[in-house]
Amino acid sequence: MADRIFRIAIDGPSGAGKSTIAKAVARRLGIDYIDTGAMYRAIGLKMLSRGLAMEDSQALLDMLAETEIDFAGGRVILDGQAVDSLIRTPEVSKAASDCSALAPVRSKLVELQRKMGKTKSVIMDGRDIGTNVLTDAEYKYFLTASPEERALRRYKEMQEKGQESDYDKVLAQIIERDHNDSTRALNPLRKAEDAEEIDSTHMTIDQVVDYICSQVTL
Ligand code: C5P
Repeated sequence: MADRIFRIAIDGPSGAGKSTIAKAVARRLGIDYIDTGAMYRAIGLKMLSRGLAMEDSQALLDMLAETEIDFAGGRVILDGQAVDSLIRTPEVSKAASDCSALAPVRSKLVELQRKMGKTKSVIMDGRDIGTNVLTDAEYKYFLTASPEERALRRYKEMQEKGQESDYDKVLAQIIERDHNDSTRALNPLRKAEDAEEIDSTHMTIDQVVDYICSQVTL
């Protein structure tokens, strides 16, 4: 293991393969993986399950003040309960994207994420890691793929899990989320100036993982 602490930031649109790649890189380099999207999903889930409206700022602040999010054994823990299986539905994806535009949600999660990247080597993926959360990360990547390729990957993944899915719907959702994430006022999705762009449309997961690992000097 390395003596020095280093951070790897991976940003990009939904379905570009960020989490699969970040998980594999973390395993190979023996560092922690932090899935920041899962944190927004956990907040989205909590808002949905409480029937909390995005406009109700006071209720939102109260809810955030009593919310704890952590990772343990690769699982997302919301208020002491593992919620991995509950946060991957289309409803929660939409709620995560909506709540991620709210300032109190972002400031709470960004603070947590910065703390997580302070004391140990991590690979963190999301939308604003290189531009906002870990601006001084030693390695920064912007991972993309065409919307059609990303929709196809998501569609196949859902089929493999036996979930009902429709390619055109998946593509429409991806385009809508790209639009939401890149046009919001607060920390929109964009490539950091010092990030390297990797277009994975015609690359395998292993090729991207090999490439990133080959650049990291331990
Ligand atoms: O990456 P994932 O699809 O799980 O993220 C869910 C949602 O959380 C995204 O659509 C985005 O709106 C939001 N998000 C964000 N900033 C991050 C990570 C995710 O706004 N760093």
